[in-house]
Amino acid sequence: MSTTEPTTAPWRRALVVGLGLSGRAAASLLRALGVEVRGYDARAELDDPPEGLALFLGAPQPPDEAFEGIDLLVLSPGVPPRAIREQAARIAPEAAVHGELSLALHLVDFGGVPQWPAVPTVLITGTNGKSTVTALTGALLEADGRHPFVGGNLGVPLCQRLEQTLVGHAPWPDSLVLECSSYQLETLPPLPTEVAMLINITPDHLDRYDSLQDYARTKARIFAGLSTTGLAVLDADDEWTEHLRPEHGTVALVGEPGVAQVVGEGQAQELVVGGDRFPRSCLRIAGGHNARNALFALLAARHLGVGAAACRRGLEGFPGLPHRMVWVRERQGVVFFNDSKATNVASALAGLRGLDRPFVLIAGGLSKGDDLSPLRELLARQGRGLVVVGSSAEQFAAMGQGVVPVVRAELMDDAVAKAAAMATAGEAVVLAPACASFDQYKSYAQRGEIFEAAVRGLE
Ligand code: ADP
Repeated sequence: MSTTEPTTAPWRRALVVGLGLSGRAAASLLRALGVEVRGYDARAELDDPPEGLALFLGAPQPPDEAFEGIDLLVLSPGVPPRAIREQAARIAPEAAVHGELSLALHLVDFGGVPQWPAVPTVLITGTNGKSTVTALTGALLEADGRHPFVGGNLGVPLCQRLEQTLVGHAPWPDSLVLECSSYQLETLPPLPTEVAMLINITPDHLDRYDSLQDYARTKARIFAGLSTTGLAVLDADDEWTEHLRPEHGTVALVGEPGVAQVVGEGQAQELVVGGDRFPRSCLRIAGGHNARNALFALLAARHLGVGAAACRRGLEGFPGLPHRMVWVRERQGVVFFNDSKATNVASALAGLRGLDRPFVLIAGGLSKGDDLSPLRELLARQGRGLVVVGSSAEQFAAMGQGVVPVVRAELMDDAVAKAAAMATAGEAVVLAPACASFDQYKSYAQRGEIFEAAVRGLE
């Protein structure tokens, strides 16, 4: 489509800042809608440069000319927004500002494309548990024979799905189940939402936000578009809940008796949601935090009309997501778990607390500046050893000193061999770094894969 043809989008000229997976998906969709698209990335060379875009590459900041005449600015989640927004405010003050996800939702809401009718939308955020709750909510809907789009911060960008439906005639989903990071929420306008869930708030990303309050306020944007018949779900035991619960829609609190709770002991434990009861044992994902995640997903599915029998099938069929406390191997009575996705202290604690055996911990990486003392307390109770890795190794070594034996390792093979040597039968070795991976790896997924390969490679 040439740029002189009428566009089915409310914009004519866009600048996409950041040409990673989501930026490229946004750019490609906009082009398919007849928008003239410019792209900027701080990298001087892209492996596979997108076609049909005027490209501005390599400078630490886009040049002013990239903003001239634009009516839309698309920000990628990884790009610190402040300087770019200031530049846009100076040169193209009228331009709308979106992220990839908010752009896609805005286009659906705009209603200009008949292939994308509005469907019930579930939004999910929180410091930890987002992906699990998102995937599990999708699994419950699928168990009911529905066809949700499950994504957002997870998996395929929504813009890509819009384009596949527009150009490739892929079927449009009957609901949207969307994981939202706080970065994505920064640009999310209040669009109609049927269910909005805030799982928890613990310190994270304090390198990007001025304060924990700032971060929490961004998370609470999840409720901005909640419809009057909508359901907001929060955790009864989270100290932020009272401050952040919305004043409209119905509010359900996980952990509140009669609403959604785990009741009973041991084998007899049940998940109770409203009048429905599900045996805890039908969940294949372990740990108290995952039982709570399941309560969130159940509340969402029940609100969208999924029956109890379908919910049970969905719970039973959900295997969990990779790199989240995954059992890798048992060797000489020692079980190895990969929790590479534990990228902050709270998530590492959640996984480790679900363990029923003593453990040797492999931790460290790119520090997020979290307080490590809760990890020290847990190591004192249940730890047998600590192997420290990555750029924060010394910080973690200091945390473990005097509590458990501490050793240092450079590469993952070495860390795994040292941890295996410290553990004895009946114990576990866990990779739960409590840190981001970018000091040594491309992603938490690559870190987890390298760990799993090293574990399988042990004699
Ligand atoms: P996110 O998408 O928010 O990063 P995930 O579902 O991918 O969350 O889980 C990330 C990590 O957080 C996992 O390692 C897991 O051990 C931990 N976790 C999962 N759910 C919770 C929860 N409800 N509370 C605390 N930690 C959790």
